[in-house]
Amino acid sequence: METLNRLTAQATADIQACVDSNDLEQLRVQYLGKKGLITELMKQLGTVPPEQRPQLGALINEAKEIVQGLLQDRKILLSENLLIEQLRREQVDVSLPGRQVARGGLHPITQTLQRIQNFFHQLGFSTVEGPEVEDDYHNFEALNIPAHHPARAMHDTFYMKDAQGCYDAQGCYFDAKRLLRTHTSPVQIRTMKKGQPPFRMICPGRVYRCDSDITHTPMFHQVEGLWVDKNISFADLKGILAAFLRFFFEKELEVRFRPSYFPFTEPSAEVDVQCVACEGRGCRICSHTGWLEVLGCGMVHPKVFEHTGVDATYTGLAFGLGVERFTMLRYGVSDLRHFFENDLKFLSQF
Ligand SMILES: [Zn+2]
Repeated sequence: METLNRLTAQATADIQACVDSNDLEQLRVQYLGKKGLITELMKQLGTVPPEQRPQLGALINEAKEIVQGLLQDRKILLSENLLIEQLRREQVDVSLPGRQVARGGLHPITQTLQRIQNFFHQLGFSTVEGPEVEDDYHNFEALNIPAHHPARAMHDTFYMKDAQGCYDAQGCYFDAKRLLRTHTSPVQIRTMKKGQPPFRMICPGRVYRCDSDITHTPMFHQVEGLWVDKNISFADLKGILAAFLRFFFEKELEVRFRPSYFPFTEPSAEVDVQCVACEGRGCRICSHTGWLEVLGCGMVHPKVFEHTGVDATYTGLAFGLGVERFTMLRYGVSDLRHFFENDLKFLSQF
């Protein structure tokens, strides 16, 4: 009897001190398991006199129920604590700032290309692209660039080492050296050879020349334009280019055309725009002349029409510009090479 009371008291104390569900299970085994302390008492019931058995048996059962109840309560308490602890650990602090998703941007050269295309698309020009690996014929010959022209020399053009000839889109073999195109004009040749006038197109793209300094890189971008139709005149050329320059630089700048020479246009002109930095007063950027040379242009040479099979009753205007130069002038960038160094500190400013 006394043993039972002591055992119940001990079990109560043990269970209430228990803070871990594994330990609690140990206690259950210790008191109520097959060889548990209370179970053992029940087994010893056979050794007491028969008249005492019912009363003692009832007391042991009562003790067993008490311990079972305590174990059950403790189990619930521990699992609740566990849940609270878990919730506390996994709590989300809604006051923390959110994780920022880094936003990319368009390269300044791409932005300029899009700006140029926007203008010409509004005038009904379409964008046409072509191969960067060209042949001698499309890059020089068809553009009336004679064999002795300095542009065709090895020190200006990247020639391929391998084959001497290549096939064009129609499968015709050209006995001509392959090279990296030095301008996007071959695209115009290909388009004129394939189709029928009128043509109204711009050709943006990468071009290559053996050149590298503060204002030249071996790879750079050009946009060339071509408009072939009946009655296209030099007045159209002047009007379009002046409007374009004012659109691009967002200023009412003076524009002037200087006579020049290109093998593929006649007459030819260089286009100068009033300096965007000093507006004509003279500064370092314009070498104190007040003018910036920005474009080359002219009326398509009859020899180019001959090569491409365009009827002599048509006339055409053509122009070409350097995308890097326009980007530098618009944003005031002094070194062309910044554009291709992939430095985010530079690029993220645009
Ligand atoms: Zn200036």
